[in-house]
Amino acid sequence: PFTLSQRALSLKPSATVAVTSRALELRRAGVDVISMSVGEPDFDTPEHIKAAAIHAIRSGQTKYTPVSGIPELREAISDKFRRENGLDYAPDAVTVTSGGKQALFNAFFALLNPGDEVLIPAPYWVSYPEIVALTGAVPVPVQTSPDSGFLLDPEALEACVTSRTRMIVLNSPGNPTGAVFPPEVLQAVARIAQRHNLIIVSDEMYEHLVYDAEQVSIGRYAPEHTLTVNGASKAYAMTGWRIGYAGGPKTVIAAMNALQSQSTSNASSVSQAAALAALVEHELTRKFVDGALLAYRQRRDVIVAGLIDLGLQTPTPQGAFYVMANTTSIHADELEAARIILDQARVAVVPGTDFSAPGQVRLSYATSLENIHEVLRRLRTLTRP
Ligand code: PLP
Repeated sequence: PFTLSQRALSLKPSATVAVTSRALELRRAGVDVISMSVGEPDFDTPEHIKAAAIHAIRSGQTKYTPVSGIPELREAISDKFRRENGLDYAPDAVTVTSGGKQALFNAFFALLNPGDEVLIPAPYWVSYPEIVALTGAVPVPVQTSPDSGFLLDPEALEACVTSRTRMIVLNSPGNPTGAVFPPEVLQAVARIAQRHNLIIVSDEMYEHLVYDAEQVSIGRYAPEHTLTVNGASKAYAMTGWRIGYAGGPKTVIAAMNALQSQSTSNASSVSQAAALAALVEHELTRKFVDGALLAYRQRRDVIVAGLIDLGLQTPTPQGAFYVMANTTSIHADELEAARIILDQARVAVVPGTDFSAPGQVRLSYATSLENIHEVLRRLRTLTRP
């Protein structure tokens, strides 16, 4: 009896859902599928962060907070931006959201009008074009290639600028590519934003997960043109706590707050207390991050070497915890390749279809070395019958 809204109907059904549901089906049937598809740390949230949340519950920090977050947390985020990123955002130029995703959602709705164009380096995280399209704006992919390690070419980016271009979305270190854009590229992108009066939304969710590269915040080069988005999920193994945040021009932050005041009101008070501990007790947190980084690096080295040894072309990711493997030797179509890998090797991977990565699949190495070795063993039976 009800028809759904045009917005709801416009959401693209994910091509990866088919593979995910098949993996669940196999699991339910008792098949031991190893999942290399999840985008979250396999570590538990550090103890000092959990303790702060428990204390918050016991001491009654269980009520609404200001829309933009508790003042102590905004101050801690402002300090963090200065200390770790060299960015100067006053506490009232900072807002706290329910996950990094809501920061992006609020930002896109605060900044985009129908018909505006948004440049998104591809392969991209699938939520960027989907949220952009929900606003009525038009996502414009700027393709990068595995041959260059998915490095963004600023000239190719600028060639996509039209009179309708309004925004550039950057994600470095990137999901799904693991690419980390070097300072020269970021400087060039900053100059493009200044030349054409564009806003850069810089998603730095994976900033701590860098291996052989240097992570630089583009906001240092074009502060007036940058909104920096970050959060607790990936860095501190806090995906379930739902804490994201953003810093940027005050008018943009104010508009994001106005939107949030009519949707979620504020991020969970208990989770804000936890995030506050993560940022204030940053030396303890740093120890956790360094330990995790060491583990991820080891896993990355094993999985990249293993995939290359199997004859699957795989650029070495410089950051995050994903690797992109070329699966055209298994099947020309990556969706089919992912199905074969699932059915015959019992490994769940994400086909690149939805990220604009044809011929490739994404594997997440946020899992134990033991699992990674087993995955490689299973893939070997597939590629070398
Ligand atoms: N940005 C990127 C690139 C991501 O990969 C993710 C999560 O997968 C997010 C943002 C969202 O993070 P959160 O879980 O804090 O909403």
